[in-house]
Amino acid sequence: MAQTPNVIGMAVMQRLKDEGIPPTPENYADHYHRFAGDQHHENTDATPQPSTEIAPEQPNKEFCSELLVMLRKMVQEVTDKTETLARDLGDKNMHLAGNVSSLRSSRDKNEILRLLSTVVMQAGGIQNTVEASHKDLIETKQALNALQAEMAETRQLLNEDALTGSLNRRGLDQTLAREIARAHRGAGALSIGMLDLDFFKKVNDTFGHEAGDQMLVHFASLIKSVMRKSDALVRYGGEEFTLILPDTDARGAYFVLGRLQQLMARSPLNYEGKQINTTFSAGVATLHQEENGHALLRRADEALYLAKNSGRNQIKVSN
Ligand code: GH3
Ligand code: MG
Ligand code: MG
Repeated sequence: MAQTPNVIGMAVMQRLKDEGIPPTPENYADHYHRFAGDQHHENTDATPQPSTEIAPEQPNKEFCSELLVMLRKMVQEVTDKTETLARDLGDKNMHLAGNVSSLRSSRDKNEILRLLSTVVMQAGGIQNTVEASHKDLIETKQALNALQAEMAETRQLLNEDALTGSLNRRGLDQTLAREIARAHRGAGALSIGMLDLDFFKKVNDTFGHEAGDQMLVHFASLIKSVMRKSDALVRYGGEEFTLILPDTDARGAYFVLGRLQQLMARSPLNYEGKQINTTFSAGVATLHQEENGHALLRRADEALYLAKNSGRNQIKVSN
């Protein structure tokens, strides 16, 4: 039976672990290929068939999701180990406490000596459990850190921003170039929106940088919820995002951003029991004939500047 990529991913992860091989993307990809290849031979005896389930050489979305599967599995392992440790220590502590209490009340010399040696052994057992689990946990934590760093790198290769999962600047260049070429070839109007959170510095200053980061993730997810599949979201920098809207004229873009504005107003970020409200300002520009990406972005930026200067929490459209 052909296996799904996730099942193969789990099996590969297990194999790397069993063979003591570090779970780097290269090792993972290498074993994934071999494993998926094995599966293939089992299925087809002679004729090789093209399969969409084999991870390609270059990192792609599927590869990223395999890394996520590995990450989840490792988190589960940490949780299991912590639970086992807590249970084990609980049992051992109970026995130790019982013997210490008998030791206190005992008057018989031989009994005292026997109990003493048992207590020393039990204390040693607890120490061994703690040391072994501590080593296990440190190793898992190191592997998790390495995996997280690799995921960030993979996302970079995928043109993605690691914090919000939107495209990064390299992704913007490629996507905008593609959509401009498409629009100039006669496809529908192309609009872009430049969005910038208002007084974001104040969120960081009042609630801390972590809250600021969560606000960025929250903002990106609200934007994604009003987007169409064919639209693209880019983290332009800091707290500024670019929304690329193919087949959308200025009115359509204004409408989408208006909906986002309303959604923002009723969707504060919940952070450590506090509700943090914020607004954004936006500038919209629709591609002119013969216009290039640079000029289009500049016009959207100028409209954003106007929205900021007009009091913020506004959407301005460039002519
Ligand atoms: P305005 O309404 O004029 O846009 O004001 P603002 O405070 O949003 O803009 P300003 O440019 O003064 O400050 C932007 C802040 O965004 C400062 C910077 O520390 C913060 N910032 C940029 N990137 C990140 C990030 O990745 N995480 C967090 N938490 N803060 C960031
Ligand atoms: Mg801002
Ligand atoms: Mg800004």
